[in-house]
Amino acid sequence: MRTVPGRTERVVVVGAGLAGLSAALRLRGAGREVTVVDRGTGPGGRAGRVEHSGYSLDTGPSVLTAPELVADALGAVGEKLEDRLTLLPLATTYRAQFADGSHLDVHADPDAFAAEVAELCGPAEAAALRRYLADLAELYRLQLATFIDRNLDSPMDLLRPELVALARRGGFRRLSRHVERAFADERLRRLFSFQALYAGVSPYRAIAAYAVIAQLDIGAGVWHPVGGIAAVPRALAAAAAHAGVAFRYGAAVGRLEVSGRRVSGVLLDDGDRLAADAVVVTSDAPHSLVPGLRGPRRPVYSPSCVALHLGVRSELPGQAHHTISFGAAWEEVFGELTRDGRPMTDPSLLVSMPSRTDRSLAPDGGQVLSVVAPTPNLDPRSGGNPDLDWAVLGPHYRDELVGVLEARGWSGLGGAIEVEELVTPADWAARGMAAGTPFALAHTFGQTGPFRPSTLPRRGPENVVLAGSSVQPGVGVPMVLISGRLAAERITGPVAV
Ligand SMILES: Cc1cc2nc3c(=O)[nH]c(=O)nc-3n(C[C@H](O)[C@H](O)[C@H](O)COP(=O)(O)OP(=O)(O)OC[C@H]3O[C@@H](n4cnc5c(N)ncnc54)[C@H](O)[C@@H]3O)c2cc1C
Repeated sequence: MRTVPGRTERVVVVGAGLAGLSAALRLRGAGREVTVVDRGTGPGGRAGRVEHSGYSLDTGPSVLTAPELVADALGAVGEKLEDRLTLLPLATTYRAQFADGSHLDVHADPDAFAAEVAELCGPAEAAALRRYLADLAELYRLQLATFIDRNLDSPMDLLRPELVALARRGGFRRLSRHVERAFADERLRRLFSFQALYAGVSPYRAIAAYAVIAQLDIGAGVWHPVGGIAAVPRALAAAAAHAGVAFRYGAAVGRLEVSGRRVSGVLLDDGDRLAADAVVVTSDAPHSLVPGLRGPRRPVYSPSCVALHLGVRSELPGQAHHTISFGAAWEEVFGELTRDGRPMTDPSLLVSMPSRTDRSLAPDGGQVLSVVAPTPNLDPRSGGNPDLDWAVLGPHYRDELVGVLEARGWSGLGGAIEVEELVTPADWAARGMAAGTPFALAHTFGQTGPFRPSTLPRRGPENVVLAGSSVQPGVGVPMVLISGRLAAERITGPVAV
């Protein structure tokens, strides 16, 4: 593995999102002097929080998987997860709600899940489920070892026995084909392929290796941090500060100061200069900040989303913590999102109501609700649409979403909304996210593993490393936590925790 040469005592980390915090904890644990700089007012980045009228709205991720990665990051400075966070495992990972009126509760306990599937889809599908879950766990193990949990300098790094095993298990056929072979019931096929959208690709184009995203949630389970997802970055930042990491919030990095082949300082917009022996950049478009760095030549971006976060004065009885609400349309939906540049005409939605589990998030008699509706991004070369005028479309789309939810069982929602936050692709773009998507570069084959930008670029200054969703291994809370560790290891060399 290539590492940053020379002196690396003082490290500045740009970004206090999950990637930056993960990197900072590792670096501090390895004895570096670390300063984290973020233009925001606190930690979290995309894992943001809005507090209003007694409602605490998480404005980023809602599905927390792989909490062992949070524990690992805390472990780097000798802390234990349970001293900083209370994590509640969700017995029901998701409720999958289908257009035919049926629903399926995905249980973390495989026996309970199989029993539910047997009742809804019959015993043959329950047996198929058990086989599929075992297969997913093995696929995940192979991929973790091959191209997720390690720095890759070249495609040659993939040439390990695990790659052959992955190919033998059908990891390189189409995901849609993979689930069709496994299940006869269309509902199960959808349940095990919608996650491809998290990776920014349609299951009709994604390779089956992306089936493993379902291992992270359906296979290994989902947790809720008491206090909401924002409690996770807050815990990581508190542990980092306790270990001696310095934080500068409200401080935008305008430029990196270069002398020779190295960055020697980080220049803030307020005129301050932070001396640095190495810099970790976690922003979405690092090439706009790092002199000499080139972005991917023909980047393909993930679809974007409209996120609607609500504080609602209603109990909304009978609703689950996480619901995947499927429309009747399916293959057409992916065409609309990734090819035609149109919002979904019959939307499939992720609806999270964490106050079902955690009453600290909403006042008595109320609930908080987050709706994530995938939309096209703003880049026509990625199947997106720059001509959608979200300033006009946004409020209409918000009304449509509320109407869809009312029709799908969240009765009385529209009249009970007290607090709301609407975020559209135009807002993501205004926050500096390329193509107006918070989900960064899509995980197409050409942007996965060694083909995705490296944590240690070959161009640009030799002491700048990258972390976050635009680099290896990819998008989502678990992946950016791993990227923070991989970035830190480019500076410290591999560190055993
Ligand atoms: C609506 C939504 C739902 C999601 N749902 C899920 C989910 O359920 N599960 C899941 O696992 N993932 C989910 N994700 C994805 C996940 O939130 C992200 O992949 C992850 O939080 C990204 O972390 P990061 O540290 O890479 O980036 P960020 O959180 O964006 O952190 C980068 C930080 O850098 C700062 N920064 C950038 N440029 C500068 C600069 N020049 N100067 C100073 N500071 C700078 C920014 O202010 C920001 O705080 C979701 C994301 C969104 C938006």
